Amino acid sequence: MSDADGPTPDPVEEGASTGRGATGDDGPSPQSFDRVLSSMCTEPHPDAHDAAERFIATNPGDPGTYEAVAALEERAVATLAEMTGAPDAVGTITSGGTESNLQALRSARNRAATDAPAVVAPEHVHFSVRKAARVLDMDLRTTATADGVADPDAVAAAVDADTVCVVCVAGTTEYGRVDPVEEIARIATDVGAQCHVDAAWGGFYLPFTDHAWDFADAPIDTLTLDPHKAGRAVIPAGGFLARDAATLDALTVDTPYLESTAQVSVTGTRSGAGVASAAAALDALWPDGYRREHERSAELTAWLVDELRERDLSVVEPELPLVAVDLADATFDALREAGWRIARTRAGETRIVVMPHVTRERLVSFLDRLDRVRDGN
Ligand SMILES: *Cc1c(COP(=O)(O)O)cnc(C)c1O
Repeated sequence: MSDADGPTPDPVEEGASTGRGATGDDGPSPQSFDRVLSSMCTEPHPDAHDAAERFIATNPGDPGTYEAVAALEERAVATLAEMTGAPDAVGTITSGGTESNLQALRSARNRAATDAPAVVAPEHVHFSVRKAARVLDMDLRTTATADGVADPDAVAAAVDADTVCVVCVAGTTEYGRVDPVEEIARIATDVGAQCHVDAAWGGFYLPFTDHAWDFADAPIDTLTLDPHKAGRAVIPAGGFLARDAATLDALTVDTPYLESTAQVSVTGTRSGAGVASAAAALDALWPDGYRREHERSAELTAWLVDELRERDLSVVEPELPLVAVDLADATFDALREAGWRIARTRAGETRIVVMPHVTRERLVSFLDRLDRVRDGN
């Protein structure tokens, strides 16, 4: 509960919990989404919600027993492959971007001949890639950026014969920027390294933009694209795609005592709810639903940027529906105190991710609180 002397939290919508551990007759309630501006997850699509409930007691890790959910995984992967410009791509539904990025590095390492495997990635790479390199005991070399995206010259200078994987980010977590995937993929190809694109969040907007990011645009090998972020599946549902079967085969581990003979996933028992919900969300929303959300969020993002600039605030020019704005520390703290879930970049800007649950009405309410905080009341 809030301190009696602190600011009153902004009102939440009808039926929503305060998200502060409220306990009703049905037990504790989760947070409401109405003041969540920092998350890359969102409310699942109703079809995804229903599918998750129906498949909650299934295990896609044992496809010989749970055949229906195994078929849904194939269906979801086929749609993700179509979205990323390689209808013949293969892959799996994972527990999220972290596992997908780990799999990309693991495959590259397993296929390479060197015993000192290195990964090259721009310094803004998601921390899951740092984690993966550590788990796999690979050397991670991070490279400088130019204008907020990976600098191909820096990448070219960092690669060598031990480089097994070069990572690009399509939709950075902090600013929503897209690295020059085409140029970087060519640098990777030149040294015989795999190229991995991390589009965990951005991949649901990028098919409707002019950015070069996918299998059709560049000679990339693997790609991360998470249905449980902007894809509106339930958590956990990540996507890992590989252009060819050999890349996926490099991940295989034998599975004695299962009817299927091999497994590529990091986890054993997996969430059938996540897999079924990913298939349902993709069925419901690709391509028209995602296109509409891309258009809605782009318009709302442009509007929010105008509103912030009219208040003389400095805003990083957005590329995808993610706004980074300079707010004073005291303003940031007061907004948090008023119940707004916002977060900061490493450089200190406040990040607002314009996810499907972020409506104009909710942003109007946020701006109203921002004005009152800045006016000192
Ligand atoms: C969110 C994110 C991840 C990690 O995904 P999880 O599902 O949280 O494991 C990786 N890369 C990028 C670019 C992301 O935005």
